[in-house]
Amino acid sequence: MPGLQKALPQPQRITIDDDWFEVQKVNDGLYAISEPRHYEHTVLNLLIGEQHAVLIDTGCGIGNLRRVVELLTSHPVTVINTHTHLDHLGSNNQFSNIMMFDHPRSRSISRDGVPRETLFWELMNDKVVTPPWPRGFERESAALRPFAVSQWLKHSDVLEIGGRQLMVLHTPGEAPDHICLLDQTHRVLFCGDILLNGAVWSHLDGGDVGALRASYELLMRHYDEFDFLMPSHNAPCLSKDILPIALAGAEDVLAGKVQPEEGMDPWERHYRKYDFGRISILTK
Ligand SMILES: [Zn+2]
Repeated sequence: MPGLQKALPQPQRITIDDDWFEVQKVNDGLYAISEPRHYEHTVLNLLIGEQHAVLIDTGCGIGNLRRVVELLTSHPVTVINTHTHLDHLGSNNQFSNIMMFDHPRSRSISRDGVPRETLFWELMNDKVVTPPWPRGFERESAALRPFAVSQWLKHSDVLEIGGRQLMVLHTPGEAPDHICLLDQTHRVLFCGDILLNGAVWSHLDGGDVGALRASYELLMRHYDEFDFLMPSHNAPCLSKDILPIALAGAEDVLAGKVQPEEGMDPWERHYRKYDFGRISILTK
């Protein structure tokens, strides 16, 4: 079991010339690029290694993400998406080297893109993203078009990119195609949407608290292999002790030991919210 926790990095905001994204430097070679006008602050991660960089997720598809990445690194960039929710792959089209977990959802979204009605209902509306829009962006013409995937990932693949080893961990529960990436070289867990300060949205189609619990158990088996977490929303860095809290929470939900609060998300989908302090779990 875990020893002493290392101090959590204190990301420093750095000034870049952009009117949509904010950038924080976590440490040498690790940046958080966020979209503060998404209502749950989307956070993308840029990992700059030797001769090569990795971009985890591409956000909402608003603004020129590629330009921001190129302000931070001149290395070629490989995109890896954590899952197919639309606020995680919006700018995939701006990049030519993309890796995704091999799942029917990622296969279909990369082949067909997303219908305009779905994109506007889920993402491009006032509940989710707010102006001022960046120069050159017109919301009315926003689209999520098909994109090419250069490599399909499988559970427990270990990618060697830019001098780091990234292990692919299939972690469904919030989305069936969700992965976490364990940077075994730098001891960081990129945990997507399943560990964050806030709510884990298991009440959506494809969400499943039993699968979420199994995903937390899987991550616990790697607990000694990372020092901190990098989630995809809200605060850019989290201490890893949120993982056992989330696991105990998911177990309590499944055992019927906690009382939920009933509520509605901004799309008026009913949920039951189980609150465990820093993190909560939503179910149908
Ligand atoms: Zn998300």
